[in-house]
Amino acid sequence: MEEREHRMALAQVRRLVVKVGTSTLTYPTGRLNLDRMERLVRELADQANAGREVVLVTSGAIGAGKSRLGLMDRELTLPEKQAAAAVGQGLLMHMYEKFFADYGLLTAQVLLTREDLADRRRHINSRNTITTLLRLGVVPIVNENDTVAVEEIRVGDNDTLSALVAGLVEADLLIMLTDTEGLFTANPKKDPGARLVPFVPEITPEVEALAGGAGSSLGTGGMATKIQAAKFATSFGIPVVIASGLEPGKIARILRGEQEGTLFLAKPRQHMRKRWLVCGQVKGELRVDEGAKRAICFWGKSLLPSGIVAVEGRFQPGDIVGVLDLQGQEIARGISNYSAEAINKIKGRKTGEIVEILGYKEYDEVIHRDNMIVLI
Ligand code: GLU
Repeated sequence: MEEREHRMALAQVRRLVVKVGTSTLTYPTGRLNLDRMERLVRELADQANAGREVVLVTSGAIGAGKSRLGLMDRELTLPEKQAAAAVGQGLLMHMYEKFFADYGLLTAQVLLTREDLADRRRHINSRNTITTLLRLGVVPIVNENDTVAVEEIRVGDNDTLSALVAGLVEADLLIMLTDTEGLFTANPKKDPGARLVPFVPEITPEVEALAGGAGSSLGTGGMATKIQAAKFATSFGIPVVIASGLEPGKIARILRGEQEGTLFLAKPRQHMRKRWLVCGQVKGELRVDEGAKRAICFWGKSLLPSGIVAVEGRFQPGDIVGVLDLQGQEIARGISNYSAEAINKIKGRKTGEIVEILGYKEYDEVIHRDNMIVLI
């Protein structure tokens, strides 16, 4: 199918997750941009009226709280940030509630941390709550629970959070609104020759490089975390559009199938249990050779010790690890059957040699296919 057909298919979207960032919602002073907020609410309410279910993932709590507390002139300590989030979240919700009420809609505050998504029981609970709200015609407004979430249990950024939430509720589309038109060939704020990339059928290392590379902040307005989030959502089977939240009408245009922002094509839908896998904390990394990469990505195989060339981090059996190819691209994530220490001993060796080397063998595979999600 061509881009046009994939775009037209967006008209069928029923359940929609929209993520909006701090730069769209607040002025540089940190105070809320009420005009933009009201417009966003109006656009979402319109989608709800058209029969769609809408989940909003919002940032801006820390920014709004910081400004209200008169702390804009300096870096905050962690507890100060958490205090600012507690103040700001209230301010945000107050305005959302008021604006949505103008269009006859009720809102609900949903604050999540990584643990709520990574722990299977809590994952299912959160999912049930949000889908019940949707059934009741309420607009769930999600943010990270910044007030209580310390580093180890945080998702850390709302781009990733929005992808996890989209997976949680099995959304049909994730729209990330930001302060650029989408993904560009270069940083549009610095390079006048930068061109918008309207369609990304696959998130290749080249695409990641356009965003400044994974984990770098070189990207255009946090584009690196957006691409990472798009990688998660598309691997769950959910298409993603990154578009500008600065001008009105974008959401409706996207859902009419018009060419707007950058569309990332979804992969085939993966099982719910596997989606839950990417929510957990990654405790280590396994670098694998080309043969193992092909076996995992194209032939649907498990990861065996023979394909592993290097091990990073300290982890135990049952921990989640990333699987990286020789170029350093994360190709999959899964639950390791062995500790880092044990894998270091059996890497590059045949399955038949495991007992001899370790003195025991609980599994043939280092990561079984059923406990692995492919990300490319
Ligand atoms: N949860 C943060 C807030 O509401 C935002 C995180 C982000 O900007 O990605 O302030």
